Amino acid sequence: MLDREGAAHLRAALDPLSAPRPKEDEPDPRTPAQRRADALVAVCQLANECGELPENGGDRPQVVVTIDYEQLCTGVRAKRGAGMLDNGTQLCPQTVRQLACDAEVIPVVLDGTSQVLDVGRERRSISGAIRRALVVRDKGCAFPGCGRPPRWCHAHHVIHWADGGKTCLENSVLLCPHHHRLIHHSEWTVRIKEGHPVFVPPPDG
Ligand SMILES: [Zn+2]
Ligand SMILES: [Zn+2]
Repeated sequence: MLDREGAAHLRAALDPLSAPRPKEDEPDPRTPAQRRADALVAVCQLANECGELPENGGDRPQVVVTIDYEQLCTGVRAKRGAGMLDNGTQLCPQTVRQLACDAEVIPVVLDGTSQVLDVGRERRSISGAIRRALVVRDKGCAFPGCGRPPRWCHAHHVIHWADGGKTCLENSVLLCPHHHRLIHHSEWTVRIKEGHPVFVPPPDG
């Protein structure tokens, strides 16, 4: 239960984010409840990334996913069970690759009995100068008709780093969480042509 003031804050945050997103002449297929749920997730993503939430066990709030490196690189066609959240929930390979696209990656080497042999250093896949250049080039989500501001956006690897794609301006594009998900889970594709992202819709749509 929320009191009136709490409800007003929640509504003020969710209303602009839960507006329908029609695709050209087709209406948004999501129900109003789903749009509000998506908006709540977007608010939490923004809060998690702002760096001002209290620490949790000595770390900033974060989503932790573990995956076998070979599965990350080759498991795109597997149906599920590729990655695991720290609460044991399994994620499909597309979702794991989406999360790994613009994440802090910590390599861990295990032996055959899952004993940790070595823990590498955390490395942000896209940071600093490249992210700033991306913000200058794309100004926000680069998906046609979107334009959500940079602070909402992830940096998507056009060729995933797990497939050998480089972390550079020519292989990156800013996408809001909604369109980042769309690129990883649908047949929409993006490439960089003459220094700018070009989006190609699915063949029959
Ligand atoms: Zn991505
Ligand atoms: Zn977008």
